[in-house]
Amino acid sequence: MKILVLNAGSSSQKSCLYEIEGDGFPQNPVETKWKADIDWNVNREYGVLEVKANNTKIEKNLELKDKKQGIASMLNTLVEGETKVVDDLSSIDIVGHRVVHGGSKYSQATLIDSEVKETIEELIPLAPNHNPAHLEGIQAIAEILPEIPQVAVFDTAFHAQMPKSAAVYPIPYEWYEKGIRRYGFHGISHKYCSHRAADILNRSLSELKIITCHLGNGCSLAAVDGGKSIDTTMGFTPLEGLMMGSRSGSIDPAILIYLLQEYELKPNRLYEILNKESGLKGVSGESSDMRVIQKAIEKGNERAQLAFDIYIHRLKAGIASMLASLGGLDVMVFSAGIGENTPAVREKICQAFNFLGLKIDSKKNSSSPMNEDIATPDSQVRVLVLHTEEDWAIAQECWYIKQSL
Ligand code: ADP
Repeated sequence: MKILVLNAGSSSQKSCLYEIEGDGFPQNPVETKWKADIDWNVNREYGVLEVKANNTKIEKNLELKDKKQGIASMLNTLVEGETKVVDDLSSIDIVGHRVVHGGSKYSQATLIDSEVKETIEELIPLAPNHNPAHLEGIQAIAEILPEIPQVAVFDTAFHAQMPKSAAVYPIPYEWYEKGIRRYGFHGISHKYCSHRAADILNRSLSELKIITCHLGNGCSLAAVDGGKSIDTTMGFTPLEGLMMGSRSGSIDPAILIYLLQEYELKPNRLYEILNKESGLKGVSGESSDMRVIQKAIEKGNERAQLAFDIYIHRLKAGIASMLASLGGLDVMVFSAGIGENTPAVREKICQAFNFLGLKIDSKKNSSSPMNEDIATPDSQVRVLVLHTEEDWAIAQECWYIKQSL
């Protein structure tokens, strides 16, 4: 089965093609046959397309900043030139889109019809940088490949059925009725990591209490009980919760009121500060990148050290909160850029939860072994470093839906 995955961001369009052999559910990730990336931000006049396939890499400028045309040019590289991997675009069986916001309506991946498109459109105010790009991608595919089924895989879906006590904010209830609630994000990654953890440990997901730590530029936790997300740190938007690369995470909401009143900051400016100038970047004054923070700490930079210490403090608090929601813990998963590659973060966190009988093998931890258990044999909690594969998780959802068509 040939599955095309589209992952549209506010300024990029990442895509890949998987070819899945055999009839059984594809549990283990397979290599992509073709990978493409359009960056709409490098230049004011052009988008830049980079394609990797057949051990070749090509790069070209896309003539117009017209995203639909850009997607058409990108798809052409599947059937033409050095990166050709299929004879005809119509041989693609199904297309999956990562959709950042599906609201509370969709709790699983869904075949795209006019109702799904309307919902994605209605949710634009909640995901202004992403949902319009998803719609453009869906429309472009519908025009180029009208017969091919398209699937929306929502980043919110995994959390859509969490208990109301976790989803409803303690503010006037009418606000909840207007859609102001915890939605949670990174759901594709949290779901994938919890399934993969059970698989690697050869345990049934239904009997496990798991905390998945997705620690990339954006950071969030999920409390996964028997395969269901029952709590998560991101909220109405991906700004809530943990300290992140350049996002503040949770702060006292009265700080915003104070800044609005006393410094007359405009809402747009507050948005910029909290999303782009805070977190590791804002505290250290150096960078939002954990690698740069680590290097600065080695050189004795005190603000970088403080940024790291706050990051750990808040991560511990977040994990403690997920732990309380779960009422126990079998598995802790570290994934995404920082979770997969920063031993110092895993070490500090695991030390903090040592009182649970959680112990890691520090030698194993320091080598960041991928998709492995780094807990000691006598640890009461298994600790996994997992490479999160959101595109592959989308392909799995597409495979599943295609079976029912
Ligand atoms: P995104 O959320 O944008 O997908 P990533 O998952 O790539 O981001 O995570 C980015 C973060 O991961 C950065 O803080 C970066 O420093 C860190 N990171 C990525 N790769 C490495 C690495 N090889 N070693 C240490 N940190 C890394």
